[in-house]
Amino acid sequence: MSLREKGNSMYPSSLPRAPLLEVRNLRKSFGSLEVLKGVNIAAAKGDIVTLIGSSGSGKSTLIRCINFLEEPTQGEIVLDGVVYSAIPLRRRSRRQNADLVYLRRKVGMVFQSFNLWPHRSAIENVMEGPVQVLGVSKKEARENALGYLEKVGLSDRIDYYPSQLSGGQQQRVAIARALAMEPAILLFDEPTSALDPELVGEVLRVMQNLASEGRTMIIVTHEMQFALEVSSEVVFLSKGNIEERGSPSDVLKSPKSEALASFLQRYR
Ligand code: ADP
Ligand code: MG
Repeated sequence: MSLREKGNSMYPSSLPRAPLLEVRNLRKSFGSLEVLKGVNIAAAKGDIVTLIGSSGSGKSTLIRCINFLEEPTQGEIVLDGVVYSAIPLRRRSRRQNADLVYLRRKVGMVFQSFNLWPHRSAIENVMEGPVQVLGVSKKEARENALGYLEKVGLSDRIDYYPSQLSGGQQQRVAIARALAMEPAILLFDEPTSALDPELVGEVLRVMQNLASEGRTMIIVTHEMQFALEVSSEVVFLSKGNIEERGSPSDVLKSPKSEALASFLQRYR
C-alpha cells in the first residue's frame, strides 16, 4: 500500500475516500426561473473541483448554495459527514439556522470582488474573523495572521489599507482572510476575473500553492490552463445542468458536447 502525503497527514492513497463535500441533487429556483436543475458534485479531501460554464449557467449560484448564502430549493449539502438539507427560508428554525453557522465556519469563500473591509488594514482584515467569530485572542490572531499573509506573499504589506493595494494584493489578502478561519474547504468564485491581466498570475500562484498543500477547493474559473494543471475534476455547467465532467484533459482537450466545444473555443 502506498502512502502519499496530503497536507499534514499521511494516509493510504489506494483506498477509496469518503467525500469531504457532497452536493446532492441540488436544485435552485428564483421564482419561476430554475437555475440549478439537480446538480451532484463531490470532493474528497485534497480534491480540486473546477466549475466552468458560460455566464448565467449557474456557477455562482451553485457556489453560494454550498454554504447556504443562497437557500437551495431542494437537495442536500453534506460536509464532513453532516447533512444540511434545503429548507425554504420561512420554515428554517432558529436551531437550524444555528447549524448553518457551523457549516459556514467550515467553508471559506473568496469572491471575484475581494470584499475586504475598506477601513481596516490588511492584517486587521485577516484577524477580524478569528477574533470576532472564533473568539481567538488578538495577540494570537495577529501572530496567525502574519503567517497567513506570509503564505500569500504579503509580509511587507500588513499595515496597508485595501485602497493602497493592487487588485492582486487585495485578492491575496482575501485568501489569507479565508485561510485564517481554518476552513475544511475553500470556494473560489472567479477569483481573478476582476483583475488586470498582469495581476492574474500572482493570485493563481497562491492558489496553486494551496493546491499542492492538499487543500480541498471548489473553483469557478475561466483560466483554462490553470484548470488543466490543478483540477482533480472539471465540471461543465450548462443551463443549470452538468453537461460534461471528468478529468481536466478529457473535458478541456476532448469535449464531447457541442456546447462545451463552443464554450472552450471562446476561452482559448
Ligand atoms: P454564473 O455565475 O454561471 O454566471 P449565476 O449563478 O450568477 O450564473 O446565475 C444563474 C442565473 O440565475 C442567471 O440567469 C441569473 O440571472 C439568475 N440569478 C442569480 N441570482 C439571482 C437572484 N438573486 N435572483 C434572481 N435571479 C438570479
Ligand atoms: Mg458567476
